[in-house]
Amino acid sequence: MKYYSLNRQSPEVDFKEAAIRGQAPDKGLYFPERIPVFERSFIQNIESFSKEEIAYQVIRPYIGDAIPEADLRRIVAETVNFDIPLVRINDKISTLELFHGPTLAFKDVGARFMSRCLGYFSKSISEKVVVLVATSGDTGGAVAHGFYNVPGVEVVILYPSGKVSSVQEKQLTTLGNNVRALEVKGSFDDCQKLVKQAFADTSLTQELFLTSANSINVARWLPQQFYYLFAYQQWKDKDNPPVISVPSGNFGNICAGLLAYCSGMPVKHFIAACNANAVVPEFLRTGDYQPKPAVATISNAMDVGDPSNFVRVLELFNQELGSLKNVLSSVSVSDVDTKRTIREVYGSWGYLPDPHGAVGFKALQQYLQQHQDEKGFFLETAHPVKFYDVVEPVIQSNIPLPDSVRGIMHLNKTSVVMEADYDALKEQLSLLK
Ligand SMILES: *Cc1c(COP(=O)(O)O)cnc(C)c1O
Repeated sequence: MKYYSLNRQSPEVDFKEAAIRGQAPDKGLYFPERIPVFERSFIQNIESFSKEEIAYQVIRPYIGDAIPEADLRRIVAETVNFDIPLVRINDKISTLELFHGPTLAFKDVGARFMSRCLGYFSKSISEKVVVLVATSGDTGGAVAHGFYNVPGVEVVILYPSGKVSSVQEKQLTTLGNNVRALEVKGSFDDCQKLVKQAFADTSLTQELFLTSANSINVARWLPQQFYYLFAYQQWKDKDNPPVISVPSGNFGNICAGLLAYCSGMPVKHFIAACNANAVVPEFLRTGDYQPKPAVATISNAMDVGDPSNFVRVLELFNQELGSLKNVLSSVSVSDVDTKRTIREVYGSWGYLPDPHGAVGFKALQQYLQQHQDEKGFFLETAHPVKFYDVVEPVIQSNIPLPDSVRGIMHLNKTSVVMEADYDALKEQLSLLK
């Protein structure tokens, strides 16, 4: 499989190159030259396959010769090495729980796959590889854990000061060793801008082997397809495929779902559930894509004003807004409605969603009210305890801390506080030379 840059000013590369570079030299995102099609028997017999086999079948065509079969099977098995259950909430709505990994959010899947691929590739690279990543909250922890103590790899994480939850902050600032946390006085968009600037800085990239672990990296983006197929495997009513609601920020997750759909996974409709950062809902309504500065919400991992992966969504649908709108709707849910939804879902069905999942629930519920014959699920993208500062006052009771979280809450954070300024970032990176 070859990957081309969506800016079309860079040469095509294989999976290894795309995963190591993160972004193409022309700053475009890499995109597969063709969309593989699942065999009919794969979809029809999906209930008979193991998770590992499903994941392997999905990813194999994207890897080509870059990783031999035995290594790829091991990488895939380690990637999906935790439960991903589809849990019923009421007659119409289920949830796909993606929070059973080590940092309690769906990003563990992409980060585990990518870190293991890079670990495999770094054996053939003489220099130290520096993974540079901006996080709005959950990426940092997932990437830090995925790459922690991977030989030959240093990790630098930029996060917006005061805009991530306390659990998130502990997950990315308490590991140490090859993981460094830079606490930026600014927003997630500022962090992302700094990271992009570093990749575009040839004087820097000549000295440091930099790679990105943001969701633009194909090695993080592509494996996110796995759990859509795990959900379909668990979906009871195969004659009536699900409506899938995806809490969306940078649009990597939903773009992976759309990719699985384009490869032949049955889905009735997708909903991109956004918070007050409503660039995509606005775009689908008006046809005019207008990036905006991110605004802070209680579903902070979706506080993105210019979603990077949306160009891939457009490419999947050949830039045709009409055909995209047949498959995808998008709505914006306010913080007030998010809190109300947490209370309602907890009170009525005894299920406690996190703020991101609640946005997904609300968007799905609204859609199903207008489409009475359909059923669906939303992605529960994080464990509610990651956002206990928001959730506990809403339900007026405490969420018990899982052991993995209790263990880190008393550790001291280690971060470097820094202005949202490129020279400051350069100075930090120069320490790694
Ligand atoms: C990252 C994240 C999202 C948004 O996912 P995208 O792929 O950026 O759209 C939603 N919910 C949680 C909990 C996240 O961590």
